[in-house]
Amino acid sequence: MLFRSDLQSQYREAKADIDAAIAHTIATNSFITGPDVIKFETTLAEYLGVEAVASTGSCTTALQVALKACGVVGGDEVITTSHTFVSTVEAICNVGAIPVMVDIDEYYNINPAAVIKAITPKTKAILAMDAYGQSCDIHELRFIANEYGLMLINDSAHSFGSAIMNVADLNCFSFNPIKNFGAMGDAGAVAGRADLVERCRMFRDHGRNTKFVFEEIGYNARIDNLQANILLAKLPYIKKWNERRYQIAQKYSAALEPFVSVPLENKISDHVYYVYVISVEDRDALVSSLKDKGIATKINYPVPCHLQPAFSRYTRTLPWRTELAAKSVLSLPMYHSLTDEQIDYVIDSVINSI
Ligand SMILES: *Cc1c(COP(=O)(O)O)cnc(C)c1O
Repeated sequence: MLFRSDLQSQYREAKADIDAAIAHTIATNSFITGPDVIKFETTLAEYLGVEAVASTGSCTTALQVALKACGVVGGDEVITTSHTFVSTVEAICNVGAIPVMVDIDEYYNINPAAVIKAITPKTKAILAMDAYGQSCDIHELRFIANEYGLMLINDSAHSFGSAIMNVADLNCFSFNPIKNFGAMGDAGAVAGRADLVERCRMFRDHGRNTKFVFEEIGYNARIDNLQANILLAKLPYIKKWNERRYQIAQKYSAALEPFVSVPLENKISDHVYYVYVISVEDRDALVSSLKDKGIATKINYPVPCHLQPAFSRYTRTLPWRTELAAKSVLSLPMYHSLTDEQIDYVIDSVINSI
């Protein structure tokens, strides 16, 4: 069976470094906070070219502390996308704010024109998201945010290595094992402006200011040292792995373009192809035909957030692109260790199934 992603191949390649990171963590007898976490944060800040990074226990909690740090409070409206994992919308709700979901553009990213239409006097922030591994139209969103005095946060869970930094006030990353830069458990980070990241540090640690003073109501949203050290061990490999993903995507697109809708590149940033998404009319038939040929596929996301029962009270419009995407997208196997033979097999199988 050819799976949609292969977590083990990253481990095999970085085994010596990852094993050493795990042994090191156990030897330090330090599992939450401390020098290893600081080292992870400063290394990541340097890698990303940002003022500061606050690590978190996941991207979901990164989004929550980022919203809090940006001053989003109960009753505020936050404009976001519906074509995303539920975390994006859930985080807005969990800080007491109101998600206003708008439609996407042809790159599956939040549509700036739709954002402008959704702005009201209650709007406090825009929570954008880099769908599938390429930047949303972040410069246009920055322009809108400045024009209307809004905060701008970017859910960069799909885009480690391609997210544009220092345009949004904060970028939030996921190191969930399934992501292109994955830990061996839950982990995340907030990156960006030093003053805001400082507030994120407080909110992720129970709102603690100093050891015994709790300035705000916060969360337990800290990273495990084990994950921080594993991520430090994997960081040097990511660029190479992302480049291989890009190469695989070019091979897929060149061969499949006459047969299915292949992903469009907006060239706002490099694409890291966290997932490689095609769009077809008869998706169910293709899924089952590929399955018969031993190829696993995945659907991000079959039910858009605005149609999820949990968020039903926030449904205001029925964005047509979002709903069309939910019915037609399908992602093919994508991981750096796919061989050229495997890629060809996937291509032939798709073409023979259409
Ligand atoms: C995976 C994902 C998240 C959640 O990340 P966790 O680290 O698992 O909390 C948030 N947003 C998007 C777009 C994601 O794909």
